[in-house]
Amino acid sequence: MPEVSHRSMTPFSKSRAKGVYISRPELELRYLNDYGPDYFAFFRIFVGWAPRICPRCQTHGIKILYLGLPNNLIDGKIWCKWYLWCDACRSGIYCPLGTYRIPIEEPHILWGDEKALADHLPKDLELIPVLWPKKNASR
Ligand SMILES: [Zn+2]
Repeated sequence: MPEVSHRSMTPFSKSRAKGVYISRPELELRYLNDYGPDYFAFFRIFVGWAPRICPRCQTHGIKILYLGLPNNLIDGKIWCKWYLWCDACRSGIYCPLGTYRIPIEEPHILWGDEKALADHLPKDLELIPVLWPKKNASR
């Protein structure tokens, strides 16, 4: 399960704590395999591996919405979930499983605020599902 440091926008694997070094191409391949190509194309924009250009329609309409919990604060960063989508073609993703944190100053809506979510998220947004491969079922 990825954890994402907002400052560097680079996800890191828990295995790093065990001293196992994973190169970025290996990491990208792992995420591609875990999430499927459609989902991964948007995910890599979030982590900064790809420019903010929509993989589907090639426009610059990429938006990110953070859903934060201000009372879950560690080192000035709050727990959050996020959506990333293209405002032009209305394709996007909801964050994969994992823990995400953003600086409390980062604009966000409150996690669980359904009205704010409805106000900020396009109503016709097509969320691309994660395609978990079968090999992960036994993990
Ligand atoms: Zn698009």
